[in-house]
Amino acid sequence: MTQHFIVIGNPIAHSKSPEIHAQFAVQAEIDIRYQRQYCPDDAASFTAVIEAFFHGGGVGANVTIPFKQIAYDCCAARGGLSEHAKVAGAVNTLLLNKTLLDSGAPIAEAIYGDNTDGQGLVNHIMSLGWPLQGARVALIGAGGAARGTILPLIQSGIGALTIANRTVSKATSLVDELSAASENINEHAIETCAMSELTGAFDIIINATSIGLSGDRLPLSDGLSCQYAYDMMYGRTLPFLEHFTAHDAQISDGYGMLIGQAALSFERWTGHSIDVLAATEALTGN
Ligand code: NDP
Repeated sequence: MTQHFIVIGNPIAHSKSPEIHAQFAVQAEIDIRYQRQYCPDDAASFTAVIEAFFHGGGVGANVTIPFKQIAYDCCAARGGLSEHAKVAGAVNTLLLNKTLLDSGAPIAEAIYGDNTDGQGLVNHIMSLGWPLQGARVALIGAGGAARGTILPLIQSGIGALTIANRTVSKATSLVDELSAASENINEHAIETCAMSELTGAFDIIINATSIGLSGDRLPLSDGLSCQYAYDMMYGRTLPFLEHFTAHDAQISDGYGMLIGQAALSFERWTGHSIDVLAATEALTGN
């Protein structure tokens, strides 16, 4: 039987998710239909769209800009949230909470939210063979993407985390908020600093800012170095990666993170594990 999935966003025409999930379905040898779903940018429309989708027999949905926080609020008031979604304050994966359905809850009250973005990044870094255990990691940025990455990074066994942001107060508030929300984070000392003050030798530096959209360069200090540099952006020339290539670091853009988060959603919905490197190779020819 064909299983139905959607990705909800605004705009949505650019989304690569249907092609990615079609590739996963080929690998898992199952029959799926995965479609882009446009939605007007308001909470009432979002709720109406997802309720109609699940009432119509839909199995799972991805959520993208600008609905990740709206999806969080919606699930918090209905079928619940995973720990990763709670800490991220955002939902990128929707499914039905079977326990609630079995106890007689209506479909609309059983819509459950997870967040696979941060774990998708960690899985990609591991698949690249970059050592995370005990690693000294710098995360640049304190927006939604950085936030979702902190718990999975800590759970991966890193040794030390420094968060640098243009607006340092946002990094400090983020750490305070997440430490209050999660014991896993509270037990881990996280340093924060202004981007211009980030200096010294790190094992891994991750760019979670949106500066790559403009093609501008981050004001990186001369004293900053790393073995591995990761930019969450993809699909364009990234000055951040050019900088660290020139300093002999190994680099990666965020395309593998995109595939990694999608693979975790797919596994959550269908129970099929995905060989992410094989899927990436099939999608990119690399
Ligand atoms: P947000 O808008 O939530 O956060 C933006 C961050 O970038 C903030 O920390 C902001 O700093 C910083 N920033 C923006 N412009 C500049 C600048 N000119 N100089 C220095 N810092 C700047 O964005 P998201 O967290 O949602 O996304 C961040 C990036 O991650 C995007 O490029 C996005 O495409 C990518 N991403 C990739 C994914 C993937 O699967 N590969 C998944 C999710 C996101 P300040 O606080 O000071 O404003």
